[in-house]
Amino acid sequence: MAARPQPYLEGLNPAQRAAVEQMDGPVLMLAGAGTGKTRALTARIVHLMNTGRARPNEILAVTFTNKAAREMKNRVGAMLGQPIEGMPWLGTFHAICVKLLRRHAELAGLKSNFTILDTDDQLRLLKQLITAEGIDDKRWPARMLAGIIDGWKNRALTPDKIPAADAGAYNHRGAEIYAQYQARLKELNATDFGDLLLHMVTIFQTHEDILKQYQRWFKYILVDEYQDTNVAQYLWLRLLAGGHKNICCVGDDDQSIYGWRGAEVGNILRFEKDFPGSHVVRLEQNYRSTPHILAAASGVIAGNQGRLGKTLWTEATEGEKLRLIGHWDGEEEARWIGDEVEAMQRGTRGLRPFSFDDMSILVRASHQMRAFEDRFLTIGLPYRVIGGPRFYERMEIRDAMAYFRVVTSPDDDLAFERIVNTPKRGLGNVAQQKIQIAARENGTNLVEGARILLAQNGLGGKGGKELRLLIEGIDRWASKLRGPRIAPPDEAVLDDGGPIRMEFGPPEVTHVELAEIILDESGYTAHWQNDKTPEAPGRLENVKELVKALDQFENLQGFLEHVSLIMDNEKEGEGEKVSIMTLHAAKGLEFPVVFLPGWEDGLFPSQRSMDESGQKGLEEERRLAYVGITRAEEICTISFAANRFVFGQWQNAMPSRFIDELPEEHVDVLTPPGLYGGNFGAAMPKSTLHETAAEANVYNSPGWRRLQSRSGARADSQPSGAKNMTIDMTASSSFTMGERVFHQKFGYGAIIGIEGDKLEVAFEKAGDKKVVARFLSAADD
Ligand code: ATP
Ligand code: MG
Repeated sequence: MAARPQPYLEGLNPAQRAAVEQMDGPVLMLAGAGTGKTRALTARIVHLMNTGRARPNEILAVTFTNKAAREMKNRVGAMLGQPIEGMPWLGTFHAICVKLLRRHAELAGLKSNFTILDTDDQLRLLKQLITAEGIDDKRWPARMLAGIIDGWKNRALTPDKIPAADAGAYNHRGAEIYAQYQARLKELNATDFGDLLLHMVTIFQTHEDILKQYQRWFKYILVDEYQDTNVAQYLWLRLLAGGHKNICCVGDDDQSIYGWRGAEVGNILRFEKDFPGSHVVRLEQNYRSTPHILAAASGVIAGNQGRLGKTLWTEATEGEKLRLIGHWDGEEEARWIGDEVEAMQRGTRGLRPFSFDDMSILVRASHQMRAFEDRFLTIGLPYRVIGGPRFYERMEIRDAMAYFRVVTSPDDDLAFERIVNTPKRGLGNVAQQKIQIAARENGTNLVEGARILLAQNGLGGKGGKELRLLIEGIDRWASKLRGPRIAPPDEAVLDDGGPIRMEFGPPEVTHVELAEIILDESGYTAHWQNDKTPEAPGRLENVKELVKALDQFENLQGFLEHVSLIMDNEKEGEGEKVSIMTLHAAKGLEFPVVFLPGWEDGLFPSQRSMDESGQKGLEEERRLAYVGITRAEEICTISFAANRFVFGQWQNAMPSRFIDELPEEHVDVLTPPGLYGGNFGAAMPKSTLHETAAEANVYNSPGWRRLQSRSGARADSQPSGAKNMTIDMTASSSFTMGERVFHQKFGYGAIIGIEGDKLEVAFEKAGDKKVVARFLSAADD
């Protein structure tokens, strides 16, 4: 066939070109971040079509996310210079398998219109089975079993294939209930997520004719991010490629970050064994990042054992060093990054101006997003959260907030509806209807409706008992919110001299404590603690992060108002936005400017990976650090905070061990202007980065704090360069009577009373207020 123009080949380097032009047989493109693997893969698709090797619908191309699939489709169109008439088999493993399974559903005992259960449905179903078996689901939670079954499905294990080593799973009942669960799914004409692949693997394994048909149909197979495939995906690919073996996989063993979800980096290492005679292409030129960024990333990943090892080089000019900065706490970190983003957008950092679209913030744990979202909403900085809902839209946050809403305003029926059976209290639709009717008949809200229903003994059994406990709880929390009733009413005197009736004394607990009490006593916290799914710890952390956010407000109502206002303000609009996402969601992406906050031991690397024996978890965290740094094209900023609110309390945080692994010569240590009096950086000998970074902690160490509170040290008695570090996190305050101070919200004032860490301050604008010492700093004007 006459050769068509091939402009898409021109921009490629020889190694990429080889990977594109080697169309027949197995090809493995194994290369580091930013070396143009995805680009070469895309060009290969175009080349296959352009040379007439395959029609668009004969190419099977697997990407890791739907977003990546859309982008690849667009790029293929752009490279071809014409829109393609559809590539039905370009998508994620799941998207492709749904399509296949609909065609062959009957072979899996399903109808083609089967439904796909979400996690909630899946759990409900498992719970029914567990209950029917008389298993105590408090001891053996359904979620635990769900996790085990997912793990089996990731390894392509049907119930009859569970290995002896797993026989003890779920109190020796795992495999048996797994079988029941699969049978029940069939009756319901349903699958769960893991089934999509599992069914297709089984169908291919047991129906050779069908497998052959697809082996012929999919003339070429291409897989991006191959290092993160699990066993089931691997088997599926191997089956499909088993005929012609025209399979091209691209990946980077250093970017394997889904081991916790069953991915096996070993798949990439055994490719050459499975496909003898495969062409292995190595790409070494990085087109994404500056030399400093690349060197910093390479320095970190060098700490891992058993790597394939790769050299990376770039023609890019020097550029900026990686920037490292320490902050007082997470709020301060968010404030600084917000300021920095604005400054970079205006081009006032001595760098070229960047657009908001150019910038991203990549966090280790999703609860870290809260501080950024709050700050950005406050200063009106447009942002988008990629790969998940925004913080205040998350399920667990809405649940927790609904509890607060019911307690602060009992008329909030929507909030009551949300929490009445969350966690499960045996108050299903029937019970809820009865409450609704009682409320409507008496023209009152649902809380009162429930009270009336109970008084009439209108709800018996477990549900009745639980509802009574809930209503008692709401009453108790509401009384804590407003303080105890004073009976008989005391006379008190207003400022203007007139008497008022005091019905309630001052609250006995702070609103933060109250929030914790509500979440504990309602069983909501325990609900997530008992949850054994992988996402449960994250949800629990989010809830704790919410409680922490409360601390910045005077009371619960103020906080709820803040949230409803910011949520109302921030309707998704057009225009440029800063991207916020987890490191996991950032795979394959690139941004000129990247912020990597929260580099502290226990957060990144995660506590879990540090507690684990062996290096496996830690090495996966290190790969995640590598993924993070290599997303940056021009400016990469790593930050850490000296204090984090973890597990419900403030803790000293140590800078991440990964900071220590950054090669010093490629890093600039920045000085946070307001915090260290400007000469912090200069005052400290830069022996190692870690030490330099750790110095930020010095004035915050328990030892220093003790010293400080014993001597009643003042700002100006601290070592030079630490002038403003009088803010005390836990101990009694270090302020003195009459001292001039500054408060974020109330501005300047003078201290007129000291009571532990609570200070009374006469503010110039806001009047006399009691505030917590930690929100004050010495006024340095
Ligand atoms: P990751 O491992 O992070 O997924 P990757 O190896 O897939 O990275 P790409 O995303 O394909 O890398 O490419 C990185 C950047 O380099 C992209 O902006 C891409 O357009 C550019 N690039 C790739 N190859 C070339 C080339 N030959 N010439 C110029 N730019 C290139
Ligand atoms: Mg890529």
